[in-house]
Amino acid sequence: ADLYGIREWGHGYFDVSPKGEVVVNLKDGKKPKPVSLSEIVKGLRERGTQLPVLIRFGDLLRWRIDELNEGFHSAIKEAKYQGLYRGVYPIKVNQQQEVIEEITRYGRKYHYGLEAGSKPELIAALAYMHDPEAYIVCNGYKDEEFIDLALNAQKMGLQVILVLEMPSELALILERSKKMGVRPTLGVRFRLSAESAGYWSGSGGDASVFGLNISQLMGVVDHLRDQGMLDCLRMLHYHQGSQIPNIRAIRQAVTEATRVYCGLVKEGARMGILDLGGGLAISYDGFKGATSASSNYGTKEYCADVIEAITEVTAEAGVPHPDIITESGRAVVAYYSVLVINILDVNRFEPGRGKIELHKDSPQLLHNLAELREEFGKDASKLTRDRVQEIYNDAVYYRDKLRTEFNYGKVGLRERSQGEEMYWSIMTWISGKLESVGHDGSQMERMSTVMTDYYYGNFSVFQSLPDLWAIDQIFPVMPIHRLKEKPTRNAVLSDITCDSDGKIDKFAHGGEICGSLPLHDPDFEKGEDYMLGIFLVGAYQETLGDLHNLLGDTNVVSVSIENGKLKYRREQEGDSVSEVLSYVEYDPKDLATRFRNLAESAVVSKRITATERREIMGAYDAGLRGYTYFET
Ligand code: PLP
Repeated sequence: ADLYGIREWGHGYFDVSPKGEVVVNLKDGKKPKPVSLSEIVKGLRERGTQLPVLIRFGDLLRWRIDELNEGFHSAIKEAKYQGLYRGVYPIKVNQQQEVIEEITRYGRKYHYGLEAGSKPELIAALAYMHDPEAYIVCNGYKDEEFIDLALNAQKMGLQVILVLEMPSELALILERSKKMGVRPTLGVRFRLSAESAGYWSGSGGDASVFGLNISQLMGVVDHLRDQGMLDCLRMLHYHQGSQIPNIRAIRQAVTEATRVYCGLVKEGARMGILDLGGGLAISYDGFKGATSASSNYGTKEYCADVIEAITEVTAEAGVPHPDIITESGRAVVAYYSVLVINILDVNRFEPGRGKIELHKDSPQLLHNLAELREEFGKDASKLTRDRVQEIYNDAVYYRDKLRTEFNYGKVGLRERSQGEEMYWSIMTWISGKLESVGHDGSQMERMSTVMTDYYYGNFSVFQSLPDLWAIDQIFPVMPIHRLKEKPTRNAVLSDITCDSDGKIDKFAHGGEICGSLPLHDPDFEKGEDYMLGIFLVGAYQETLGDLHNLLGDTNVVSVSIENGKLKYRREQEGDSVSEVLSYVEYDPKDLATRFRNLAESAVVSKRITATERREIMGAYDAGLRGYTYFET
């Protein structure tokens, strides 16, 4: 069975091979070929690249570009829609140079454009986007420099749209345009009244901090008309929020926005373009729209519904079909990167170390717990849920009392330990019985979430999965090998920061959201390696990550396949220790000097020898040059 839901969230890009390894489907020539992630990691290790490593797959990015653009092209063809689709990629979702290069190079056949939300993003966009048929949409707050850059790019033949986020931006844009002798191409971001579900619903709706409300919109129209510049208003834009799980909410928003668009045409604005922003969701958990990490529609349905909604409204209003822009980010880049980590250690949940011998002087509470344990041997078919609940209540009561008596000095250390062992063996037995006597979400069931192993993974949640920490985002996590074996343990995944938030304890698997993940039992003594993949991390994660505990960027590599051979390109070493220290204003040379002074005074006071000093300094220098993650 598909325990980890890879058939749901993997979207055909990821799967499990008959050998029990996670494979990624990469294009070898024209044909997709499954490539094992373990094989990729093996090749990386042979080349000296250590885990954790972020692996990027350009093929998946290109597939997503195709899926989105072709989705719109076929929906347009089918509906005989008169406008064009001209998507733009929002740079903020993954700003890496490789992404922008691919979007502009590979996306050129679709005239796929870029969305820039800040000056640095526009500066990057202008260096790569030279297609006069693609759009560059400028969102975000704009100063004079930003506006001038956009207007100059327009002068040079690019289609740059300046989107008004606030009414006050208009005066500056008009002033700069007059000075530069350019008629600007203007868009306006509108605050829809339709609110949608999902974590980012606050980006849309009346309460949104972004965009103009209806009276501000009319103010802009009137001002442009007064200036004789209503022909410059070309585009209506809105953004509902990212990851909209429900297609109905998308339809509602498109319908409202198209009504506004038609109203603007009737006001005399030139228009021609409707920009629906982002929001196209992907499934991180396979729950088909029931959670904010899922989606109840695919790209094809999204495209068809958008076209249908716009067609309906424009037909009623008698307005020509606009060209359509979407700013899908997450849906284009999420699949592109996978983080592979190795497990460093396991803290197993062990209910007890074996049989406990009590004698008649042992505290009564221990005898009581032992009596509860005798239930284990009884005929399970006679056990009712109520009886299991009673055993649970009694065990908790005796254990708590034992702890209190320990605090009063009435129970010794060894006796307390015996009591705790019996308590946990009772809890383990109860959690095994819940399957047959039924779950009801009680405290008794929540207790089983405590009874999990801790697997220590070589990564930092804060650096590599900031959304998991900040907004409880679920990412698919699973072993990349040993998938023919049944996992025998249940684990929470801890990172190597010493922060209690540095863990993953929410997983989607087996059709549920669970507090632990079924994992295999690695035998580290035999030198076994156990590796997990954390998937769908291509959107938003890389640059939002931070340096908590001074764990820096991971190693990165782009992987493709040619004639059956793996190609490793654009390998980038992760941050070294001296680099992360310099980010927080240490000077690595000064650090070494200070440490050397300490070592020298230890030589003078004869704590260490001069030779030892040389070795210690060598280790310190190697530490400065090394990877910030656990090195093997
Ligand atoms: N456009 C704008 C204005 C945004 O703020 C965002 C991100 O929230 C996006 C597009 C990308 O959204 P998504 O990643 O959901 O496609």
